[in-house]
Amino acid sequence: MVKIFNRIYNDYFMKSRLKEYEKLILDFINNDYMFITISDYKKLKDNDKHLIIRHDIDSDLAIAKKMFEIEKKLGVKSTYYFRKQTCDKKFIEEILKYGSEVGYHYEEIATFCKENNVKTRDNIIKNMDKIKKLFETNIKEFEKEYNLKLTSIASHGDFINRKFDISNAVLFDENLRKKFNKIVEAYDSVIEDNIELRISDCMYPNFWKPVNPIVAIEQQKKNVLLLIHTRWWDKAPGERFKNEILRLFRK
Ligand SMILES: [Zn+2]
Repeated sequence: MVKIFNRIYNDYFMKSRLKEYEKLILDFINNDYMFITISDYKKLKDNDKHLIIRHDIDSDLAIAKKMFEIEKKLGVKSTYYFRKQTCDKKFIEEILKYGSEVGYHYEEIATFCKENNVKTRDNIIKNMDKIKKLFETNIKEFEKEYNLKLTSIASHGDFINRKFDISNAVLFDENLRKKFNKIVEAYDSVIEDNIELRISDCMYPNFWKPVNPIVAIEQQKKNVLLLIHTRWWDKAPGERFKNEILRLFRK
């Protein structure tokens, strides 16, 4: 019950936290952190302190755009992952022009389940080759549509992935890794193993798990990753209401 109340407060009434986002970036700048992107992961081995900001744009493009403006103003780089449904050509071009990173936030397993009303995990396994083919096509289309060569991708976690206990990340298998050998998966161990503290944002009222990023600065952590989702940074009554209705229809 409390969770539902917090969700409603977060989505429909909460005050914007974008000033807090700006302050957070300033705190890292003032503590000599270098801002690197996901595919800069080799720099994690250097002696400097690094911060990777990873944005998973699951919804709320307008909020992502405001965060990008803040980063531009402060001169820092980050990584933006777009789902098929949140892609925005003009915005992607702006991010690339500025020098931040753009990646594909993929979810072909979840999409296949939704579109085909899949009821069992077996049904996913049986269709895996087909889903992988579609994933490959989508990577190529993403590159073509936005005129870029992807250097990183990140799997999206949908409630369907949790329901059937299968991550979209299984799609990026040996075979596809060979074909797209310049692409790294954001959850790959070459990155994760070098991250000293990985922090994700979350819903009102906690906002961070496992700790507030200020702790990373206080403890002088060397390599820090912040996973950011637009949803927890501002209310968006219209968009959230629309998404709730769509979700109910799908169910
Ligand atoms: Zn996601």
